[in-house]
Amino acid sequence: MQFKDLKAQYLALKNEIDAQIEEVIGSSSFILGKQVAELEERLAEYVGRKYCVSCGSGTDALILAIMSMNAGPGDAVFVPDFTYIASAGAAAVRGAVPVFTDIDIRTFNMSPESLEYQIQKVMKEGKLLPKAVITVDLFGQPADHDSIIPVADKYGLKVIEDAAQGFGGSIRDKKACSFGDVSVTSFFPVKPLGCYGDGGAVFTDDEKTARRLRSLRANGRSEEDKYCNDIIGINSRLDTLQAAILIPKLKAFKEYELDNVNRMAEYYTQRLKDGFLTPAVLPGFRSSWAQYTILCKDAGERDILQKRLKDRDIPTIVYYPRCLHRQKAFEGREYSDADYLNSMEASSRALSLPIHPYLKDEEADMVCETILSV
Ligand SMILES: *Cc1c(COP(=O)(O)O)cnc(C)c1O
Repeated sequence: MQFKDLKAQYLALKNEIDAQIEEVIGSSSFILGKQVAELEERLAEYVGRKYCVSCGSGTDALILAIMSMNAGPGDAVFVPDFTYIASAGAAAVRGAVPVFTDIDIRTFNMSPESLEYQIQKVMKEGKLLPKAVITVDLFGQPADHDSIIPVADKYGLKVIEDAAQGFGGSIRDKKACSFGDVSVTSFFPVKPLGCYGDGGAVFTDDEKTARRLRSLRANGRSEEDKYCNDIIGINSRLDTLQAAILIPKLKAFKEYELDNVNRMAEYYTQRLKDGFLTPAVLPGFRSSWAQYTILCKDAGERDILQKRLKDRDIPTIVYYPRCLHRQKAFEGREYSDADYLNSMEASSRALSLPIHPYLKDEEADMVCETILSV
């Protein structure tokens, strides 16, 4: 069994994807070819944003977002403690200090109360300027933007939505990638919408920010003259090939993949909910199920489950075994475990099961059978 079955997806879309690849190679327009603009337009329309600026990866999308806000040395950027390293690394690369917040144990997403507590802590210390908050739509469910954005507004913070895992999710009629000032996503192959290499995108409704992002991704070039530079940028563009591959993949995602993966998640929840803490989706929220993550009783139970599943050739992954406040890379700032109790619980109890739109009913049944037999 595959944790994510990229091969099954390719076989389902082979004709369209092969044709797209052939067209790009035939045109020799490898950088910023017409498929890039076409994809950006479709993505912006799908998520309900005015502008989409594609780039080289989700990490670069975060770096570009941080650069677009001029966050850097002396600034505090608030990030959940339980997420992939890039959510915080992008701020640190620009010289800003990531300040971690605890999470809600049932959704795995940023706790608005902990965010406010950490903002006040930074203000009391008086060393850093609270600048921005990076909300993360972890495992596919949008962060609780209803509660987080008012906190950010109260303290004058910009909001960056890290929707690397959240693409396709929604809160009522608003889609992931439409929350906050700037949103980012990743097209890393196993994300909800993945390409065949690295890729990412930044979204915004602000025209000036969109222009700035377009310049930043092309070494800070000015709009009129390629060799005239007013700002410092990086080189981070989405290859035309990747954009062309994403066009039919986005279509399949909208037409059936997102629905299929939601059906799979619902099946898991129905079968497993009596024995385990299955992932909670808040009322009015929809997840894109980048991961389906259960909470075991403790690390011991998780080890047993993982081993039993492995014996039957069922892959599982622990996302994330180490909280960010305990990563050596961030050891410059003093963090107290007591501020991160939920995050630490999650890191010792969470277990992610195989889930993707092409998972067969028999496979999902076998996963549940095995888990329930333990
Ligand atoms: C994958 C991921 C990223 C980084 O995306 P890449 O395309 O791999 O650089 C950032 N944040 C989160 C939450 C992710 O899951």
